[in-house]
Amino acid sequence: MTASPPPITVPQANPGAGYRALQAEIDAAVARTLASGWYILGQELRAFEEAFATWLGVPATAGCGNGTDAIALALRALGIGSGSAVVTVSHTAVASVAAIEMVGATPVLVDIDPLHYTLDPAELAAVLEDPPAGVPPIRAVLAVHLYGQPADLDAIRPLCQRHGVALIEDCAQAHGATLHGRRVGGFGAAATFSFYPTKNLGALGDGGAVASQDPELVGRVAALRQYGWRTHYISDDVGVNSRLDELQAAILRVKLAHLDAQNARRQAIAAAYDEALAGTSLQPPARRPEAGHVFHLYVVRTAERASVQARLRQAGIGSGIHYPQPVHLQPAYRDRIALGPARCAATERAANEVLSLPLYPELTDAQVEQVCAALRTLA
Ligand SMILES: *Cc1c(COP(=O)(O)O)cnc(C)c1O
Repeated sequence: MTASPPPITVPQANPGAGYRALQAEIDAAVARTLASGWYILGQELRAFEEAFATWLGVPATAGCGNGTDAIALALRALGIGSGSAVVTVSHTAVASVAAIEMVGATPVLVDIDPLHYTLDPAELAAVLEDPPAGVPPIRAVLAVHLYGQPADLDAIRPLCQRHGVALIEDCAQAHGATLHGRRVGGFGAAATFSFYPTKNLGALGDGGAVASQDPELVGRVAALRQYGWRTHYISDDVGVNSRLDELQAAILRVKLAHLDAQNARRQAIAAAYDEALAGTSLQPPARRPEAGHVFHLYVVRTAERASVQARLRQAGIGSGIHYPQPVHLQPAYRDRIALGPARCAATERAANEVLSLPLYPELTDAQVEQVCAALRTLA
């Protein structure tokens, strides 16, 4: 008989701690919103959309129901649907790919740069020059800023420009990440955000947003998210129902005010983990010199993943795998998705070796030290 493992004292994620850390402020915002008598598309949403736009450095944002819808709404606002292909990666939340198919477009999945886990520009160049057989014209690239680190936009943007395809940033894991000192979200035609509770900017329920340098595009998203209305009860376009409600918007206003400090805390914890990993066989996350990484996840790489995960578990430490199966190998997608020339070989290798350590701003110093102590024992 094997002894049952000790309780998890450092979970990999802990959205409840995120609530408790700001409980008084959040409770006041919730009470204010409940008392207002207005629960959908009101002043809390407008105030959040403005504050978020200002914080990102773009003219406008539009809230919506979740990060998947944000991608679908951005694509639709750009006129991308059936008869168009969209390039993205297979090493991502399945949502990135699901959203492309939601609008009727065809995903083309290319391989990642194995060091940073983001879209490999050489693969993008190859599919733009010589698209896979049978796919419609490529009209957009969805660049995922994975784990909190920007994709290689210095290489990706000129490729998009040269080939006349729209660049959309999937910023669901990268609220506040920077490139050459500028926050991601304004580098392409549109950018999409998720406010799923564990994201760097997390609601206490579902939420999402689209940002753009083009206020008209944001206006189209704002219409599409509510039945295509620009005027009440008159649909100019066929829209959907994907709204960010007033309670979530009020909570997000509170959380946004703390986001810079929380991202700094994430970076400090990441630096502590880096130090603890020195001299172990685990590979810490690589940083792009031109980028500011906000560590949505702290992902190490190891060929001994199962045993590392078990030893952390014995020390009361949770861990996660993001993501265990590349999208193109998942049952719903297998054998029917067009791939780039490398056939996602680096993606498939990464999926077997990546491991996410606990990382969120509410980790106490003692918890961080508990993780570091366990890491140091890994040869
Ligand atoms: C979380 C996430 C999404 C989807 O967001 P939801 O709010 O869960 O719909 C999309 N892309 C990436 C990279 C994500 O991490």
